[in-house]
Amino acid sequence: MKKRLFAYNILIILVGLVCFFAASVYITSVNNLNFAKDTVKEITQIYAGLYDERADIFSFVKNDGDIRITVISKNGAVLADNHPLDVAALENHLNRPEIKAADSDSPEAYIRYSNTLSVNLIYYALKVNSGDGYVFIRVAVPVAKIDAYLSESLPFLIFSLLIIIVFCLFLTRGTVNRIVKLFSFLSQNLRLLSAGEYKFTPVDGSYEEINEITREIDEVALILQNNFYELNNEKNKLKYILNNIADGILVADENKNIVLINSAALSIFNVTPDITHKNLNYVSYDKTLIGAVEDCVNFAKNALFELTLNGNIFLITVKRLPDAKLAIVVLSDVTENRESAKRREEFFANASHELKTPLTAIKGFNELTALNNKDESIRKYIDSITRETDRMLSLICDMLKLSELENTQDITPASVSLAKVVNEAYEAVSIVVSEKSIIYEIDGDGTVTAKPEHIYELIKNLIENAVRYSNQGGKVSVKIENNKKAVLLIISDNGIGISPDEQTRIFERFYRVERSRSGRSGGTGLGLSIVKHICALYDWKLSLKSKLGVGTEITVIFGVKQ
Ligand code: ADP
Repeated sequence: MKKRLFAYNILIILVGLVCFFAASVYITSVNNLNFAKDTVKEITQIYAGLYDERADIFSFVKNDGDIRITVISKNGAVLADNHPLDVAALENHLNRPEIKAADSDSPEAYIRYSNTLSVNLIYYALKVNSGDGYVFIRVAVPVAKIDAYLSESLPFLIFSLLIIIVFCLFLTRGTVNRIVKLFSFLSQNLRLLSAGEYKFTPVDGSYEEINEITREIDEVALILQNNFYELNNEKNKLKYILNNIADGILVADENKNIVLINSAALSIFNVTPDITHKNLNYVSYDKTLIGAVEDCVNFAKNALFELTLNGNIFLITVKRLPDAKLAIVVLSDVTENRESAKRREEFFANASHELKTPLTAIKGFNELTALNNKDESIRKYIDSITRETDRMLSLICDMLKLSELENTQDITPASVSLAKVVNEAYEAVSIVVSEKSIIYEIDGDGTVTAKPEHIYELIKNLIENAVRYSNQGGKVSVKIENNKKAVLLIISDNGIGISPDEQTRIFERFYRVERSRSGRSGGTGLGLSIVKHICALYDWKLSLKSKLGVGTEITVIFGVKQ
């Protein structure tokens, strides 16, 4: 910048000085010429005044200088000339411009080339009375004589010009140095801005405009510095939070390069912080993880899956950052949860097994007691024991079914007719249907592929609930729809219904809307949990519509047809 600024300045000054010099020379030469013309006119006037027709004409024109004096008759014939020429041989001068001008009484000086003397001359002529006529007195001065003045003063002019140029060089260099120094201070200072070390620019009184700019830069820099401070603070806070989160967090870009990784993720993958900006392959070769990140950055596809890393189970969430081709991977360690859930399930299954055997024995002994005892007051207690043991047995059976569903790995599917299963399930509720005088309707049929026991459990539980929570003389309808996209099972009743608050909870284990009511109706609180588990196992959709006091409709959508 310094060199260029210096060169530009010098160039401008040089062009200016040369133009000024040329203009000066031109003006001086024009002035000289005008002065010479005026001098020629004055000389001519003096000669015209001195002219005497009676005097010797040749003595009149004679002079020692460079001035040429010519006397021309009114006919244009040269009468006398101070240059030793053959006057008679000279051609007629009437058509010479200075003679024409003098003849028309408007004398004018002219510069022209003299064929006689072979030089440029300034000519001026005046008309002078002579006898009963007139003659022309003409004076001519060589132009070279005038130019000589200029050539004499030219070396001095060039010398002055050179001194001015040298002076300008020093002055420009000083000015450029000062400006450049100021700007280099500014640029160095701006570099310190992000580190929060910006210093105010010292004010240089010489350039008010530059001071104005530096003041503005200082103001903007101050604002930027404050913003940097705030951003840095926020960044540090965020870094602290990120590094103290128990979950592992990793951000990858579209090339699968790691943009950010927190302390938890570093220890999960057993890598060091210099992994940042390296490829995801450096932390894991797992195809599911890498594929999920690729799909997320390229197709904005979010993912949720489990992954076992170094013996621990992690729930992985892959989400795309809005407006950026970045995938955020969150790794939550769920090993503890999974293990305790597994322990709970094992306990659930073992306890159910252990309880089932003594209960079956109690039931058997109770039946034997009932056979041998006709006493009415004792029979009341025996019936009570029978009811409670039956309820406990069905509870244990449901618990075992649920635990079996949770642990099932083997699904050997078969084609199952839904209408057939609905009819089988009806057997289980037929007594209650007739006791409650329920209108029971079955309509349609459809085939689904699943383990038949699972279909039976699902339909039986839903029909049992519809009948169980129907009022006396109510209506239960089972509809199987077979549309182009899927097979639907719709079980509806006009029974007691479920309030909106309860609708979200009835699929939880042991949740019953009103324990005493459900207890009386013989429910275990596990029916809908079993239904939910079966649907989840096959990825079927389960939906519920219910209104308190109006009725309930539960729909199962058995997959989407291809
Ligand atoms: P339960 O064995 O008690 O019926 P479920 O898990 O099958 O247990 O149902 C949970 C609760 O949901 C029931 O206790 C009941 O209050 C409510 N419920 C289920 N189906 C219906 C229905 N068709 N009408 C009204 N309430 C129902």
